[in-house]
Amino acid sequence: MSRSLTRAILTPLALAAALAACSSDTPPASDYDLAAAREIISTSNEPAKQLFGAKADASRQDDAAWGSYARGCIAGAEQLPESGPTWQAMRLSRNRNWGHPVLIDYLQDLSRKAARQPGWNGIYVGDMSQPRGGPMLTGHRSHQVGLDADIWMLPANRLDLSVSERESLSSISLRRAGGAYTNDNWTPQHHQILQAAASDPRVARIFVFPGAKVRMCNDETGDRSWLRKIRPWYGHHYHFHVRLSCPPGSTGCENQDPPPPGDGCADAQEWVNNILNPPPPDPDPPAPSRPRAELRLADLPQQCAAVLQSQ
Ligand SMILES: [Zn+2]
Repeated sequence: MSRSLTRAILTPLALAAALAACSSDTPPASDYDLAAAREIISTSNEPAKQLFGAKADASRQDDAAWGSYARGCIAGAEQLPESGPTWQAMRLSRNRNWGHPVLIDYLQDLSRKAARQPGWNGIYVGDMSQPRGGPMLTGHRSHQVGLDADIWMLPANRLDLSVSERESLSSISLRRAGGAYTNDNWTPQHHQILQAAASDPRVARIFVFPGAKVRMCNDETGDRSWLRKIRPWYGHHYHFHVRLSCPPGSTGCENQDPPPPGDGCADAQEWVNNILNPPPPDPDPPAPSRPRAELRLADLPQQCAAVLQSQ
């Protein structure tokens, strides 16, 4: 059933209540006019990153993640306040401190836990999503649905960084030997914060370099269940990457398959072994894959065209 039909059969009383719930004069555009969306999609040939990269604000729609982490968008995103009691958003010029309200809550909760660690007063939050999500002009294939966020490895000891300091300050790398091991910047606080980040039931996965995962596998003496969600990945030594599961009720949001059962420590050790002793090249390599095509509006869920069109 279409949204407009649903609206037409709302009783006047329910409609009045719905409008009263809006704080601003203009009611939010909840227009998922999919016929119009299809029209836009059929005539749009611009790379989707240009279209989403041009939007400075969230859509005035109910919050909803559409599609998958690397092929989607977000309606009604919320902006993480640039500074809070236990966090600062970094690189504000990028305007990527937007996400699903569940992500905003999660980051604030995590920041309070981090603030309890010695030397940390909270967290520095790197890229989240653009105001309407979608593909980005630079960096990241994922971060498209408002459920991904990068957390800096640099201890957030100062929370009064100016806007320009937040542009120029760099995070620190925690790796050595190409990511096979942690370096001297690694601290037990990193373990604690990653544990807190992974133990939250809203989390699907956390990406960090393989040496960090193996380090935590070796150091953990208590409950190991949280290690399952810590996934070894390329890069991710200046920040770790949190990915939340689709929020309850976000029916257009596609989860990834959950990580395999177990703590994943043997798998991480294998990554490390392959870094230290790269396997010989495949004598019969598969044909090189063609460069990935630029995402167009037609590659995203139809609702994303409506998200773009919305006020
Ligand atoms: Zn990331």
